[in-house]
Amino acid sequence: MTDIGAFDFSRRQTREIRLGDLVIGGSAPIVVQSMNNTDTRDVKASIRQIEQLAEAGCEMTRLAVPDLEAAEAFARIREKSPLPLVADIHFDYRLALAAIEAGADKIRINPGNIGSEDRIRQVVLAAKARNIPIRVGVNSGSLDRKIIDEYGGVNARSMSVSVMEATKSIEKYDFNDIVISIKASDPALTINAYRLLSTMTDYPLHLGVTEAGTLRDGVIRSAVGIGTLLAEGIGDTLRVSLTADPVEEIKAAYSILKSLGLRDRGPLLISCPTCGRTAVDLVRIAGEVEKALEGIREPIKVAVMGCAVNGPGEAREADIGIAGGRGEFIIFRRGEIVRKVPENEAVAALLALADEICQERENTRKGTQDK
Ligand code: SF4
Repeated sequence: MTDIGAFDFSRRQTREIRLGDLVIGGSAPIVVQSMNNTDTRDVKASIRQIEQLAEAGCEMTRLAVPDLEAAEAFARIREKSPLPLVADIHFDYRLALAAIEAGADKIRINPGNIGSEDRIRQVVLAAKARNIPIRVGVNSGSLDRKIIDEYGGVNARSMSVSVMEATKSIEKYDFNDIVISIKASDPALTINAYRLLSTMTDYPLHLGVTEAGTLRDGVIRSAVGIGTLLAEGIGDTLRVSLTADPVEEIKAAYSILKSLGLRDRGPLLISCPTCGRTAVDLVRIAGEVEKALEGIREPIKVAVMGCAVNGPGEAREADIGIAGGRGEFIIFRRGEIVRKVPENEAVAALLALADEICQERENTRKGTQDK
């Protein structure tokens, strides 16, 4: 009998692409990335945001390079950046050349809007000389009219054909350091397009639902689009595009990856929906716990449950948790009750236990590394 509850998480086999020490594709962990929303010409603000992104767990970020002044600022940002930087180029091949010269770790182009074959050739040869990859990114909004007409509109096939043609236009210079993206703002179209594309190439795929929206809806749309693909083993790196602080993109990316057990970073909060048995202000307390756990990088599963009757049992697989009673909380570890505390001490007690566990794990890890 088919086990309908089981997902096949085996990754599609893709080639490995390197940005310095960072590997995209192959069996490397799925890389989390974002895009700065600072003015690239504002070097200080851009570096500050890159540092905030790095702190949140971002592994590479992209900066728009709309003019030569931005390309020049890119070089100064690169010198101080803790993360590999991708230069986002549209239309002007000279900006791609300038960004490569400025130390870009990767460039993102749509060969379709870079212009003549000779211009594409110059960009590809410059990337090759510096040994940096190129992301070929085609979005549903930027398809060639000819391809749209030939394939009956903007659909998975026209998008896949378009991005594969763009890929061929740089492959012909014996260049294979390529990552491909094919984003749409419609999650269903994104899913279908990447599904088809993944049968046409073994280059690593950069996933994303483009222009996904504001924080709440954007996260949901991205989780549906990106999450579905990841659950099918498709995707090697991802960006959650939000109309919000880019740090939110990183938090959302890890939430998606953690939901599928594909990356392990920081806390995973389980909290019950509350019901007629709840006798504490659980909504407020869960919010406080979530906020207080934000700085933790160690993977830890934390449960915040409304009642002591069902709470610990329901959250048995959590590392630690609290479950409410009348004016008090019990603290539990792996479903076993450890102690009771008054309601107003519950958050602090939970955090102290979280710190203790994280410290224990860090010590164990260090001990293992020292051997
Ligand atoms: S854990 Fe308790 S309070 Fe929360 S939903 Fe379940 S039964 Fe209700």
